[in-house]
Amino acid sequence: MYDANSLKAELNDRGWRLTPQRETILNVFIDLEKGKHLSAEDLDTLLQEQGKPISLSTIYRTVKLMARMGILRELELAEGHKHYELNQPYPHHHHHLICVKCNETIEFKSDAVLKIGSKTAKKLGFHLLDCQLSIHAICPQC
Ligand SMILES: [Zn+2]
Ligand SMILES: [Zn+2]
Repeated sequence: MYDANSLKAELNDRGWRLTPQRETILNVFIDLEKGKHLSAEDLDTLLQEQGKPISLSTIYRTVKLMARMGILRELELAEGHKHYELNQPYPHHHHHLICVKCNETIEFKSDAVLKIGSKTAKKLGFHLLDCQLSIHAICPQC
């Protein structure tokens, strides 16, 4: 699993300059409680509360970029706008069961899904960055 140091080392290897703003955003995700997912707006609020405000447009750009690099995962939760969480290296990927009514999101792991993802990528010569399954459903409370 990634911690702050291994992640920063990997970013360095990939030639990605970790500016202070990018590092601030990255640190929020590294410290994020397990099972939590943040939207750009959540991130904006959190950074303001921490006294390290970053403009919303920079936040949008940075999380998009990090998602494209496979550092963050972009999740389409039920309410339609995007949420982000730290991506983990293979084989630590998890999946999401999402209630479309109340947005309750349960994380789960599946070796079967991982196997399909890694096999498919390998067969076609792709380097796997992420493999995720989102299941949209209605929870027992709803
Ligand atoms: Zn998650
Ligand atoms: Zn529900």
